[in-house]
Amino acid sequence: MEEVNKYTILAVDDAKDSLMLLEFDLKEAGYEVITAESGYDALSILENTQISLILLDMYMPGISGLTTLQKIKTQSALTHIPVIMLSASDDEQQIVDALEFGADDYVTKPYIPNVILARMRNSLRLMEKTLQLETLARTDFLTKVNNRRSFEDLVGKVVSQTKRNQHTISMAMFDLDLFKQVNDNYGHEAGDKALIDFAQILKETFRDYDVIGRVGGEEFAVCMPNTDIEEAFNACERCRKALAAHIIPIDYQGEKSNLSLSVSIGVTSAQGLLVDLNELLRIADHGLYKAKENGRNQTVIEGEFSMNEADTQLKEQEKYPGINHQVGLNNVLGDEDLFADILVMFHQDHGQDHNNIQQAIDENDQQKVKHLVHTIKGVSCSIGAMDLFDLCKELDIAVSENNSEQYQGLFAPLKTELVKVTAGIELHLRDKL
Ligand code: GH3
Ligand code: MG
Ligand code: MG
Repeated sequence: MEEVNKYTILAVDDAKDSLMLLEFDLKEAGYEVITAESGYDALSILENTQISLILLDMYMPGISGLTTLQKIKTQSALTHIPVIMLSASDDEQQIVDALEFGADDYVTKPYIPNVILARMRNSLRLMEKTLQLETLARTDFLTKVNNRRSFEDLVGKVVSQTKRNQHTISMAMFDLDLFKQVNDNYGHEAGDKALIDFAQILKETFRDYDVIGRVGGEEFAVCMPNTDIEEAFNACERCRKALAAHIIPIDYQGEKSNLSLSVSIGVTSAQGLLVDLNELLRIADHGLYKAKENGRNQTVIEGEFSMNEADTQLKEQEKYPGINHQVGLNNVLGDEDLFADILVMFHQDHGQDHNNIQQAIDENDQQKVKHLVHTIKGVSCSIGAMDLFDLCKELDIAVSENNSEQYQGLFAPLKTELVKVTAGIELHLRDKL
């Protein structure tokens, strides 16, 4: 084995002289060595020290080597450590028992240093191979983050812990925007490169103890233990902005170009006993869906939180009540003045539409209802009034399907929302009206 000094060996024997000899031989070979003179000592060393391999004497006073072995092999954190038993005689039954309890190998005492070193090399090699295979089975081959199964395993553990100590946990879902177009326009290789780069941005943005997973083709999830919704939202936004600023040089069919892309994010949070893995994923996914609907390239908080926690997002997104400021502003390429002008126009054109729609419903004028609702729907989407947009959409569908008995019920919340939006514009832009 090339780098033996990276391995720490725990040698356990009650006979001090043979322990000293063993220590000497192992150190000569380049290993780090820790010694223990009893099974108890060995177990307590294993509690707080990283050990690569254990050499364990079979016969010891106190707890025997076999009992110590059993205790090691029943602790999930220790089972992967190879154990080589040291037995004084060729006691076949003891050796069979040890192998059955999970020992990896045995040597008989008095041992021959070269033989013991060769067996150690074998066991360590096997352990490395096993660990490599386990890592491979847990890792997404392309992006090297956790695959879905491993993500769910790891998050499952985090969730149990969070429940036990009543902490807060956050979960975010990421879906790259219009990714199919990347493949269509620049080829699959460019798409793969984009996925690799985005995974790297995730790794750089989130903390080491956050769990990152590729949960679908161009979908990723991040679980953030001990993180409230505000911190989680901020981290997601950092990630979103980092991707938006990231440029991927592409050489496709002889033409060089720069590819940039964006991501939509849904994020949610839960605390203590309320935490449930599937529920967290489902709610975050719902936020993601809204982010797509609202125009992509944004983070949407989903779920119910105290006002304090949601305040940051509200402040940023609801400068005008009922309007996602960021979405509206994006639609005019960030021009605040132009955005204000458009809001003023919206107020002038649609400020009275709740009365007009009510009148059209009363008169059973399908065409007029359809026209009014359809227009507000389109405009509300461009100014970022997303709830209003959703409500218009529902009424619009009912009108298209001639479900006139639903009109009044669907109109009531639409009216409330429209009044809220126009009142908000009035409040902020009074001097322009
Ligand atoms: P939206 O913004 O609504 O999410 O649009 P979209 O195009 O990203 O969504 P859609 O689900 O239609 O397309 C996802 C695409 O991701 C289609 C698929 O070919 C691509 N994809 C999935 N896995 C991989 C991969 O491993 N490599 C590459 N290059 N593309 C992938
Ligand atoms: Mg998708
Ligand atoms: Mg997508």
